[in-house]
Amino acid sequence: MTLLSRRALLRGQIREEFRILPPGLSRPVAEICEQCRACVDHCPQSIISMQSGIPALDFSASGCDFCGKCHESCPHAVVFFDADLSFPHMAQVQSHCLALNSIDCQSCRDHCPSDAILFRPRAGGPWHPQIVDDDCTGCGACISHCPTDAISLSVRSGSHVDAQP
Ligand code: SF4
Ligand code: SF4
Ligand code: SF4
Repeated sequence: MTLLSRRALLRGQIREEFRILPPGLSRPVAEICEQCRACVDHCPQSIISMQSGIPALDFSASGCDFCGKCHESCPHAVVFFDADLSFPHMAQVQSHCLALNSIDCQSCRDHCPSDAILFRPRAGGPWHPQIVDDDCTGCGACISHCPTDAISLSVRSGSHVDAQP
């Protein structure tokens, strides 16, 4: 399983093959991108940048709201294969999460637009977060709201965030 942390994103440590593409875009298609930057300029969340000639996302400041502007604004017929504009990854809580270390925090849940983060009641300490796999869209909205960089992305099998070494 490949994990992409916010800290790694901030430090530019994501290798090219692990870059997160705009939703619905496959890597082979991204490689025919004309680098016109239309999607970069039209993303209302300002999370797209050109990285080594392909558009890639950075969730360190904001998440994707699946508005489709990146798709709609492309003038070069770069085909977004997935009409549902889904991501091939999901959020995963790491062991240094505050709540998992007896410090009360539910910030991620409060900022998840899909209600994909549940907090399970627990006796004797803060409730623990649990990501509901089927509900997480991979939008990344929770990442920038975690005070301890404890949310990473795990790549789902068959993803276009290619996990080849
Ligand atoms: S779907 Fe919208 S918010 Fe998401 S990357 Fe594309 S333009 Fe940005
Ligand atoms: S990635 Fe998006 S949908 Fe998934 S848990 Fe985080 S905020 Fe919720
Ligand atoms: S926001 Fe971060 S530290 Fe807080 S409960 Fe969620 S994963 Fe844990």
